[in-house]
Amino acid sequence: MRRALRLSATEDYLFAFIDRARARADTHQAFGAEVIPLGVGDCDLPAPPHIVDAMRQAVTDPALHRYPPYEGTPQLRAAASGFLRRRYGLTADPASQVLVTLGSKEAMAHLALALLDPGDVVLVPDPAYPVYATWARFCGAEVVTMPLREENAFLPDLAAIPPSVARRAKLLWVCYPNNPTAALATTAFYADLAAFAHRYDITVASDAAYGELYYGAEPPPSFLQAPGAMERGVEFHSLSKTYNMPGWRIGFAVGDACVIDALRTVKTHTDSGTFGAVQQAAVAALEDTTGYPDHLRGVYRDRMRLLCDGLDAAGLDVLRPDATFYCLVRAPAGLTGEDFAEQLLTRARVLSIPGTGFGPGGQGFVRLTVCADTPLLAEAVRRIGAVNW
Ligand code: PLP
Repeated sequence: MRRALRLSATEDYLFAFIDRARARADTHQAFGAEVIPLGVGDCDLPAPPHIVDAMRQAVTDPALHRYPPYEGTPQLRAAASGFLRRRYGLTADPASQVLVTLGSKEAMAHLALALLDPGDVVLVPDPAYPVYATWARFCGAEVVTMPLREENAFLPDLAAIPPSVARRAKLLWVCYPNNPTAALATTAFYADLAAFAHRYDITVASDAAYGELYYGAEPPPSFLQAPGAMERGVEFHSLSKTYNMPGWRIGFAVGDACVIDALRTVKTHTDSGTFGAVQQAAVAALEDTTGYPDHLRGVYRDRMRLLCDGLDAAGLDVLRPDATFYCLVRAPAGLTGEDFAEQLLTRARVLSIPGTGFGPGGQGFVRLTVCADTPLLAEAVRRIGAVNW
């Protein structure tokens, strides 16, 4: 058997690193202390009870055991549209501008199949969640990276994109609140981005998986709020992070009806929708009256303070985040991000991900998560603080 060429052209740095680190972690266990995993962003908390109850009830309904509608149930699309109206003041037609997805990763991958031809240019941030570039390459498109620099608040510099490249670009990816930098976008940036997309006839794909995990008083904006953005963009929302539902595989795409229709076409040939009971539970999540996301933000805010205060006290330079459950920590002088990740593992027995797992732009940093309970984080801080950096 020969694997497809597109696979040999794909190096999955992120997961390769995690696999190697896990293997080493097992070796270290033999020496006593278990490794504390602060690498992967997989929330340790359960989905809240009102969502689990909705699922429990729905699962007994035989009507939901049949194939669900391809684009998602009308109830869930209406609930998504209601959420977007309440949260961002957006008007999105549930029938033509909202599509239910299996989490957001699948939909972001399928967007590439829906829009890209060989030779098209795709503008991708660096560092970034790897799916954007991987799937562009799978489709034979050319990836041009947009560096996210600390001095530019981890926003891409649109003015630095040569017009000759912009004219050939079909798709541009952004992700705010950002993984891995935890940076936020501003409304001014989104307005510039919408104008740029109109000028060069580019579709903007906005990954809003972390849209509800913020620490400040002001909720982060949506790209789709920018003038003209609804006709030029598609945004991916996910219930994974907001309601601790990553295993449930549920999210939705919203935006330009033509893009939504193209994505729907690919998906009708690929999957047959998410289990109707999960969709019913997602309605309970999006119509939430319990204030759960507020509670969750408080949990992450406290955990993040504990971690960042501890890293500060250890003499490390941590970029205190305004959002997400990630923070970047600068490698001490003389170490690369990979060296630092290795030393965190071997000397402190804490698993991190080097920034370069998200592209060369992540060099010099490691990313830590607070997807671990307070005692475990306190122990991680204690171990990191015991090392002479
Ligand atoms: N986008 C970003 C930036 C992520 O970090 C992740 C998962 O970690 C996803 C999207 C995908 O999440 P899901 O497919 O669970 O919605």
